Amino acid sequence: MKKVISIILCIVIIGCGGDSINNQSSSDQKQSSDKKQDSDSYQWGGPALDKLISIDFNVPSKEFKQQLVTHKGFPEEHRQFFNEVHTNINQVVGSYPNYFYVVYNKDLSNEDNEPIFQKLKDLDFKDGRLKTVADVHDQRNCLTGSNTGQRRTASTNPISICLEDLKNLTWYGHQYGDSSQEELQNEPWKNLTRLALHYAHEYFHHYQRAHSLDRGLDYQRDQDNPQTTIYAPPWWVEGAAIAFQNAWLRQHWQDISFFDGQTWEDGLGNISIANVTHPWFYKEIRQAIMGGPAEGRGRDCTPDFTMGPWTERYETERAPDADKCPAFMMATPYLASLTSWQTVWIDIPRDFYNLELGFWGAIEKHTGMDTQTFYDNFNAFLRSGDPEDDPPPGWQPQPGPFTNYVDFFDLHRTN
Ligand SMILES: [Zn+2]
Repeated sequence: MKKVISIILCIVIIGCGGDSINNQSSSDQKQSSDKKQDSDSYQWGGPALDKLISIDFNVPSKEFKQQLVTHKGFPEEHRQFFNEVHTNINQVVGSYPNYFYVVYNKDLSNEDNEPIFQKLKDLDFKDGRLKTVADVHDQRNCLTGSNTGQRRTASTNPISICLEDLKNLTWYGHQYGDSSQEELQNEPWKNLTRLALHYAHEYFHHYQRAHSLDRGLDYQRDQDNPQTTIYAPPWWVEGAAIAFQNAWLRQHWQDISFFDGQTWEDGLGNISIANVTHPWFYKEIRQAIMGGPAEGRGRDCTPDFTMGPWTERYETERAPDADKCPAFMMATPYLASLTSWQTVWIDIPRDFYNLELGFWGAIEKHTGMDTQTFYDNFNAFLRSGDPEDDPPPGWQPQPGPFTNYVDFFDLHRTN
């Protein structure tokens, strides 16, 4: 059921979990205030941009700005874990305003969940009409959002909201069937590893949104006028986030006290909720596309696969009759191999707000390829060389500190 729900949600969103190639059903959502329609004549860079600049909306800092909002009796150790993980992420990718992590408990009474209702009302989430835990559970979503002002005006105040049941934190793997109750009791660090990856993933989406400012990250914000948005496609929104979460955990797991006593090789390194850069993914997909056996991640792939405009929107990428082959998710590491992870994670978000560029203009700026050329070259790349070839250099983020190859703090536009 959850799978069905997440697919439906993904049709309308900003960034849902690359689910076709992993079991991360993060189902990140569109901004929820559909009541506030944009006009056809929206012009960027006016009062709405001024407002966002004035609150440092796109300026990375190292302060702790995340807000964890919980039901009464929320477990203290989960608060500590949340704080440790996000404190660490802030040192890497930077912290940005307006990120709310809201945790209710569906097994408790409405009274125990009262702080949730009040906060969601304050945030104008779903027009403030959620008044019971059943209402909230029905609208659970991560990453979703709201706006306490009027978007694309001087009062705009966009907010990212992750709205989850406590069970998602205390037993993250339960919803995807990849962890047992026994594992949860005997090896709780495995659940925490998945949860840390989830936290990093969703926060990365907030970072992506921050740099889209008043334009909005993808066409979902203004479906009739997609050119007014950044028009970032799911393969980059998700691919960049997935690659980040894995690189972050690899580099920083030892900074999290909850992982004391564990190892990487025989421990955390074996836990994953999503991957777009692993060599086996690369090989299995290419093998199937080149006419070999369709196995593993390539099980839905055939030589007919072609990446194209259908991968630019969640609703077409995940349409019932869409090609189920997830090869297009490799466009992110492909882009990194052509340029760098600095370009994928930082230069693209730095440039895509530019009115002349948007997402695809930023791609052209950094690769020299227009959209169709990018598709043509990627499709040729999928079929080049030998199926057993390893990925090209730069396919995976390099090991070692982020500061050796990327700088998330060298990033904000002052307009
Ligand atoms: Zn996502």
